[in-house]
Amino acid sequence: MLEQLKEEVCQANLDLPKHGLVKFTWGNASAVDRESGLFVIKPSGVSYEKMKPSDMVVVDLDGKVVEGEMRPSSDTATHAVLYKHYPQIGGIVHTHSTWATIWAQAGLDVPVMGTTHADTFYGSVPCARFLNQEEVDRGYEAETGHVIIETLEKRGLDVMAIPAILLQGHAPFTWGKDVKSAVENSVVLEEVCKTNLYARQLNHFAKELPQGILDKHYLRKHGKDAYYGQK
Ligand SMILES: [Zn+2]
Repeated sequence: MLEQLKEEVCQANLDLPKHGLVKFTWGNASAVDRESGLFVIKPSGVSYEKMKPSDMVVVDLDGKVVEGEMRPSSDTATHAVLYKHYPQIGGIVHTHSTWATIWAQAGLDVPVMGTTHADTFYGSVPCARFLNQEEVDRGYEAETGHVIIETLEKRGLDVMAIPAILLQGHAPFTWGKDVKSAVENSVVLEEVCKTNLYARQLNHFAKELPQGILDKHYLRKHGKDAYYGQK
């Protein structure tokens, strides 16, 4: 079942080490099929060299395995919570990519300092709080999803306009309309975290991008008046 989606998800997972976002088996990508209400995710702890589409695990939106020989990613419950809450999301990626993880460990939002950021994220990428002990004990992975939702809602963020978040002391999650764009968003986030850190090091008082330039760059690529690229 969902053979096409398994291919896409397998490819997305293989793209993570290719883009330098993942070491060992850290990281996972998934994609949802809204018609059946099922999603496809990487198996837990399988090396990227050996991974093939048939290894992908099909689970329902409660994270229960529907098809697959292997155990799904240990972060499956986080993906499930996000798919359930946000019908717009088609794919999710989680990595411990170095530069984004540095910002997560610093506990800082990633400010919009350049147009690379503005082309993809319509505002600062938020850093969510640590989970408290009660949440860790209740169900770490599902509660991670709830803290992501809590952060986006508290700040009134549009989930598709800022398709990324950092988890304090942990690492980033990104998403998109499909798993391919979720991977792209991870790559952009990593690049932005790296350039921002260097820019701030070079000039501690380096300014954030003016709102007008943020609007221009984001809106020429996204939304009804977008004109970037080919029709
Ligand atoms: Zn993680």
